[in-house]
Amino acid sequence: MRKALFPGSFDPIHNGHLEVLRGALEVFDEVVVAAFDSPKAQPMFSLEERVAMIEEATADLNGVSVTSFDCLVADLAGSLGVKALVRGLRAVSDFEAELQMAQMNRHLTGIQTVLIPAVRESSFLASRLIREVARYGGNVDDLVPSAVARQLKKKVNSQ
Ligand code: ADP
Repeated sequence: MRKALFPGSFDPIHNGHLEVLRGALEVFDEVVVAAFDSPKAQPMFSLEERVAMIEEATADLNGVSVTSFDCLVADLAGSLGVKALVRGLRAVSDFEAELQMAQMNRHLTGIQTVLIPAVRESSFLASRLIREVARYGGNVDDLVPSAVARQLKKKVNSQ
């Protein structure tokens, strides 16, 4: 059984993340999506909200489970018995940070990182941009799962 861990902030999860996840499921039998508990980063959505949206957005995908973490990714992977991390690559601009992180994680516990290229249609998607567009009333409905579209509207209306 090949199992991988897909860590990230997922604030919120969007279609680009889901494409990476689908790609990972072509290579791995099971993928654990893990949302980082990062209060310092002042996320738009609480950890509970982010996890709930990931759960709803991935409910139809076989082999996916969802968790959260507030420790080193490499340590979480160790405690889950996972041998590989999955990360996405949108463009060359992502590569440097992802390479550095992959090398650090390899150094820490020997874990490998598998980088999955973005599909062309969603390579411009970033959670930060989606939050910004939604805040100013732009329509992002076709860029995020329906659970996220709903929660974004709720969040923006309550702010
Ligand atoms: P982080 O907060 O760690 O940067 P994110 O939650 O923003 O993580 O993203 C998690 C992973 O998904 C990262 O590897 C990021 O590069 C990748 N990713 C984000 N958006 C896309 C996209 N549109 N296509 C492919 N990969 C993406």
